[in-house]
Amino acid sequence: MSFGSEARDYDILVAGGGMIGTSLAIALAPLGVRVGIVEAVARSAAGQPSFDERSTALSRSSQRMFTAMGLWDAIEAASTPIRHIHVSDRGRFGFSHIDAAEQGVEALGYVVINRVLGGVLQDALAALPGIDSICPGRIVGVEHDSDRVLATIDEGGQARTVSGSLLVAADGARSSVREMLGIGASHVDYGQRAIIGNLLPERPHGNHAYERFTETGALALLPVSEERVAFVWILPHAEADALVESRDDEFTARLQDAFGWRLGRFSRVGVRASYPLALSKASRLTAQRAVLVGNAAHGLHPVAAQGFNLGLRDVAALCDCIADRVADGCADVGDALLLERYADWRRDDQRKLVGFTDGLVRLFGDRRRSVSVLRDLGMLGFDLLPGVRRLFARHTMGLAGRLPRLSRGVPLG
Ligand SMILES: Cc1cc2nc3c(=O)[nH]c(=O)nc-3n(C[C@H](O)[C@H](O)[C@H](O)COP(=O)(O)OP(=O)(O)OC[C@H]3O[C@@H](n4cnc5c(N)ncnc54)[C@H](O)[C@@H]3O)c2cc1C
Repeated sequence: MSFGSEARDYDILVAGGGMIGTSLAIALAPLGVRVGIVEAVARSAAGQPSFDERSTALSRSSQRMFTAMGLWDAIEAASTPIRHIHVSDRGRFGFSHIDAAEQGVEALGYVVINRVLGGVLQDALAALPGIDSICPGRIVGVEHDSDRVLATIDEGGQARTVSGSLLVAADGARSSVREMLGIGASHVDYGQRAIIGNLLPERPHGNHAYERFTETGALALLPVSEERVAFVWILPHAEADALVESRDDEFTARLQDAFGWRLGRFSRVGVRASYPLALSKASRLTAQRAVLVGNAAHGLHPVAAQGFNLGLRDVAALCDCIADRVADGCADVGDALLLERYADWRRDDQRKLVGFTDGLVRLFGDRRRSVSVLRDLGMLGFDLLPGVRRLFARHTMGLAGRLPRLSRGVPLG
């Protein structure tokens, strides 16, 4: 590896240009701070790990945030609204539903394919002249001097060092930047994989999202365009591996058996892919002149479709902290006070969502009879007590707790 001479200095250096890092760089633009974003995998590469064929259910707070960033019209045009959520337990009596009208909202969330969302975000990023995008480039080292953080970037065998007041690690659940910063993380392997893809149901989806808990794991069907539904099917490793490779008709029959006939006969299943599922949690959110956001801070099981939404709230809170600093005329956006404010703000929301998601996986994964009864009571109670349902809906819509400006739909600039 040779060492290039070009050195750059930023206010904020974003490590990782996936769904969260790219959203952060765009959100920072109105503040007039100098931003550099470093992404390891070329945007057009088939193996881009963030902008792939998965579907993401965007919460109301994410919708508000993209509205404040001026991106919502483009995202809405490429997404499908969820107006009803139906939760059931295969082979048991209980089921629950949440309705957008009952919550007094237009939609409970919006489903968008990551690759499509990635296109909107990357076009927006490319149109912002003040942001330097270093891609493909991988951060391979982090050091500090008295008032800067220095990152070494490998750009196809060439290395260069860039510096910033603040380094934001947005490089995913297996974050190497987090490790370089000396922040530990816990990992719990759920022993499961999520198979994703889409298919055509016989009946119109009617903007319903379905979550069905089965003997082996959860199955979610989300409404997408052209009357298709996207599925996320969680199964033990071995079963998932066999199914992802199985013939289309075999796969469709198994999925039909797991879901039932509420949407009629399934056909025309598309390409499938699978993802190992784990819970990862950073031991702290900050290090000297550095913070963690998105999956680098918390990698969740997709059962409640909350990982990206939670990560966007990290972005919104961080942007609020930085915006206040800029408004005060303070040039340093990476000092200890700012880091502490960010960490204090995010701790509670992250702890609740991690606990809620992990609890759901364990509750619905446990087939013992006593737990099943509890589960049914929970689901019935949930359905019979509108207050409980409303609270749950507010959490899944990302509207609970103290919200930063962007999550309330208030632009920063
Ligand atoms: C099956 C499935 C379904 C899901 N559904 C939903 C949903 O419906 N709703 C929801 O809110 N969430 C959902 N999620 C979670 C969501 O996908 C993640 O929370 C989100 O992708 C996290 O984005 P990120 O940018 O933090 O991390 P990543 O997507 O992992 O991106 C990290 C980026 O950093 C880059 N990188 C890594 N190392 C370096 C380095 N050293 N230098 C430079 N760049 C680097 C990578 O190339 C990558 O582009 C789902 C997850 C799964 C697995």
